[in-house]
Amino acid sequence: MIHLENVSKVYPNGTEALKKLSLDIRPGEFVFVVGPSGAGKSTFLKLLIREEKASFGKLVVNGQDLMKMRKRKVPYLRRTMGIVFQDFRLIDKMTIYDNVAFAMRVIGTPEKAVKKRVKYVLKLVGLEGTEKRRPNELSGGEQQRVSLARALVNNPELLIADEPTGNIDPERSHEIMKMLVEINKRGTTVIIVTHEHDLVKEFGGRVIRIADGEITHDAFLPSEYHPDTPKGTDDEDETKEETV
Ligand code: ADP
Repeated sequence: MIHLENVSKVYPNGTEALKKLSLDIRPGEFVFVVGPSGAGKSTFLKLLIREEKASFGKLVVNGQDLMKMRKRKVPYLRRTMGIVFQDFRLIDKMTIYDNVAFAMRVIGTPEKAVKKRVKYVLKLVGLEGTEKRRPNELSGGEQQRVSLARALVNNPELLIADEPTGNIDPERSHEIMKMLVEINKRGTTVIIVTHEHDLVKEFGGRVIRIADGEITHDAFLPSEYHPDTPKGTDDEDETKEETV
């Protein structure tokens, strides 16, 4: 699903944000990416969604070679994934319904199917009844759930969330995390960048730690939610140390 081989990212100002990263993420995995501020976590996500282009190495996401991909093909890549941004990125002048429906309409989904699916995902995130409201009439936690509904609406194989609990209170964070676990159980690969150690410990799964542009830890952390590694993953090198 995701394959990185010696991937480096050097920004135009010379900052080497990622240094020869190699890793694979397989379908169905639940992955946390942790590490101190400035470690390269956001850069890693930006490479996966092709918001930034890797400088060197090999990078394949959902079967597409991102080193060779032309810019005009990027929207097609993005359609294979759902992205939850830390700052939600909802469109303020649109209703909640339209914010979620938008992602389906741009790919030409018939309105009848849009209606059915939007209703379903809003229910899934516990927001039925908010369809006619606008983002600024909702709390931060609710807005984050709208952004999650929007990320899920096209049934992506891969869900990428950048600090999805960064701007919401602890109780809501917990709820969002449970939803991400549920989505993962339904078959979507989930990658979450976070700095919240408590959530990582509680929810477990694969924990990749990046520090100074390099992977310093990559192991499966068992938890109540993730007692076992998903099928097909290789955890022979796992260390059970809790270095998150
Ligand atoms: P994190 O998400 O872990 O906080 P980032 O990926 O944002 O880390 O940043 C990694 C490094 O790359 C930092 O040193 C940061 O200052 C630098 N960096 C990030 N974005 C840019 C950019 N657009 N131009 C130059 N340097 C950048």
